[in-house]
Amino acid sequence: MNDNETGFGGLQMLDDDGDANTATTAPIAPIAMEQPADAAPVTAAGSGGAHARVLIVGSGPAGLTAAIYAARADLEPVVMAGFVPGGQLMITSEVENFPGFPEGIDGPALMANMRTQAERFGAQLHDLDVESVDFSERPFRVTAGGTEYTADSVIVATGASAIWLDLENETRLRGRGVSACATCDGFFFRDKKIAVVGGGDSALEEALFLTRFASEVVLIHRRDEFRGSRIMRDRVKTHPKISIEWNTRITDVQGVDKIEALQLTDTQTGDVREMPIEGLFVAIGHKPNTEVFKEHLETDDKGYLVVEDLTHSGVEGVFVAGDVHDHRYRQAITAAGDGCRAAIDAERWLEEQADESVEVATQGAGEAVSLA
Ligand code: NAP
Repeated sequence: MNDNETGFGGLQMLDDDGDANTATTAPIAPIAMEQPADAAPVTAAGSGGAHARVLIVGSGPAGLTAAIYAARADLEPVVMAGFVPGGQLMITSEVENFPGFPEGIDGPALMANMRTQAERFGAQLHDLDVESVDFSERPFRVTAGGTEYTADSVIVATGASAIWLDLENETRLRGRGVSACATCDGFFFRDKKIAVVGGGDSALEEALFLTRFASEVVLIHRRDEFRGSRIMRDRVKTHPKISIEWNTRITDVQGVDKIEALQLTDTQTGDVREMPIEGLFVAIGHKPNTEVFKEHLETDDKGYLVVEDLTHSGVEGVFVAGDVHDHRYRQAITAAGDGCRAAIDAERWLEEQADESVEVATQGAGEAVSLA
């Protein structure tokens, strides 16, 4: 398996309805380049948090790569890693396409390595969810774990989360046979007949991964062709444990204490039938974790953050990296590259601000001298 999609980290608690929303950005006050005298240590909890030159929200490949670069630039980044840190690679088994690991590497191991690397250079990680942000003036304000932090610059790398079918019984039976994470839960379905819904790379990879445990995997797709890549399509179609239900929608999930059956509806004939099943894995895509930023950052019609010039948001000093804006590539390696770009751009932007502050101070001193 080469599930190499990227992740969120940082915003698990959010209301993730994924609604598209276009927000306006507020005017920006002059930046405070110096740490406020009353700033608490970075580890402080309570009402007054630390001041950071770079505050990173999210701890998937984008957030942690940004942390590594910012830390190596001596910016001592603070990372709001999320209550469940590490992003989607934490729920991924083997990553086969991240360069440098010819034999592949487990998603959690890759993320643990990135975290250790970021910490080695001085990044400070807090496993806290961000509750609110205020980007209307500088320093920016970010509240996490009930504590308000201030920052000269922010990198938003909150990734995207799984989309569900939105059926009442699907929600009720989550954790009781219904899952969106084959890596986390596949083990519990040894020798059982299970279903996977979706037709993209995620669904194809989940189905293949689950053949390690299940006696039979039924892949349910609403159309008659897969959206996923050719190599994955071929693997799925020829796998002896996988059968495919084309043109089929799941219209109900049945079971009292645990999933027992699916109600399936043929999208062409409208015929309804039941299929006994012991597990359901939902793999129908993701939505970006943008909820707390919506008032401050512009989003597109799918709810993804809009970027200008690769990493810049509409708010000067706020940068964006990874799946929270990228719905095209969504790879760990592209997210990591994006995190690198955002950190470099943040560093350069901070330098420019510092240069401007020096210029203003020099001019002010000159005026004072000439007045004397
Ligand atoms: P995706 O490509 O958007 O596919 C979502 C699938 O779910 C589609 O087949 C879609 O059907 C189906 N679907 C959506 N809503 C549905 C609903 N309400 N009911 C039933 N089916 C529904 O999402 P993804 O598979 O998560 O992949 C996203 C991106 O990540 C892609 O670019 C993919 O290549 C990439 N990815 C890459 C890797 C890798 O390289 N290792 C692994 C995973 C993902 P329709 O086809 O009819 O729209």
